[in-house]
Amino acid sequence: GDDGVPGRVRVAVRLRPRNAEEMVADADFADCVEVQPELKRLKLRKNNWDSDTYEFDEVLTEFASQKRVYEVVAKPVVEVSSRAYGQTGTGKTFTVGHLGDGDTASRGIMVRAMEDILADVAPETDSVSVSYLQLYMEAIQDLLDPTNDNISIVEDPKTGDVSLPGATLLEIRDQQSFVELLSIGEAHRIAANTKLNTESSRSHAILMVHVKRSVVSQDDTLSIENGNSSHFVKPLRPLIRKSKLVLVDLAGSERVHKSGSEGHMLEEAKSINLSLSALGKCINALAENCAHVPVRDSKLTRLLKDSFGGTARTSLIVTIGPSPRHRGETASTIQFGQRAM
Ligand code: ADP
Ligand code: MG
Repeated sequence: GDDGVPGRVRVAVRLRPRNAEEMVADADFADCVEVQPELKRLKLRKNNWDSDTYEFDEVLTEFASQKRVYEVVAKPVVEVSSRAYGQTGTGKTFTVGHLGDGDTASRGIMVRAMEDILADVAPETDSVSVSYLQLYMEAIQDLLDPTNDNISIVEDPKTGDVSLPGATLLEIRDQQSFVELLSIGEAHRIAANTKLNTESSRSHAILMVHVKRSVVSQDDTLSIENGNSSHFVKPLRPLIRKSKLVLVDLAGSERVHKSGSEGHMLEEAKSINLSLSALGKCINALAENCAHVPVRDSKLTRLLKDSFGGTARTSLIVTIGPSPRHRGETASTIQFGQRAM
């Protein structure tokens, strides 16, 4: 990955602390990884005396604050699209979506990003609006209006820009209404998944923030002089500059064992594997500077198409847990992150 270069992906890895269960169950065992944040390195233990070393753009230890995570992952790039990838329980939602009610220090990337956006726009002339969606089994559901569960992706034939005409788009005026909206969306996500008898970590949650800024362009001011020195100045015409920020809390990356699941569970696992591997292929194509990025392979990548090209900048945070019992999943998460660089 590369800092701030359009089209390249910045990849950070975040280790979460041991949870209460792991403190007991893994008490006699070392963590499966060792972090060296100054060297931006992470070591994955192979056995007691040997480990593999990986380098990332940023290595965040179990002590990294939410503020620091936001600052290294999302803030450096102006038009950022961030995704969190990792096994269920490793901290994707904590990193991206945590609301931090009553504990502002623990707020996640969505809330912090909105705070920065709102501080940067002019309330009279600019507008900030959001859509909040869930992608489950290749169907897009509106988390702000859950009855709307079959949203289609439309691509502008001229610009190639992606839009979701059926999705609720709400204007955000202040931070508090945004946090309320996120918590409503989250409640809908849980309710929808309870109805389907599945875990919310089996779907992707996607927040899209649209910012329209009204800027007066210098190039727009034309001064035309004629021979008599009278001159005509073209009236200033405000120029609308649009930008889009996409934040994704991805479905859990753990491989569901095919032997152990059947019917609906198997279909669900296949669908998640399909979208995550399609995402992996697109990110790899970007990392390798390929002319062709295969966005058509899944709804997830079609939805994220805008952030794979042009001037878009993308960052990926991969989340891992310390438990030696999940070494295999941790290894595959680290490898996903490595391929993206
Ligand atoms: P995921 O979304 O990847 O399934 P969660 O974000 O729900 O995982 O995290 C699982 C649990 O671990 C939650 O209770 C969360 O608060 C906690 N957790 C995750 N990351 C951290 C962290 N870096 N520091 C403290 N607690 C964390
Ligand atoms: Mg989650």
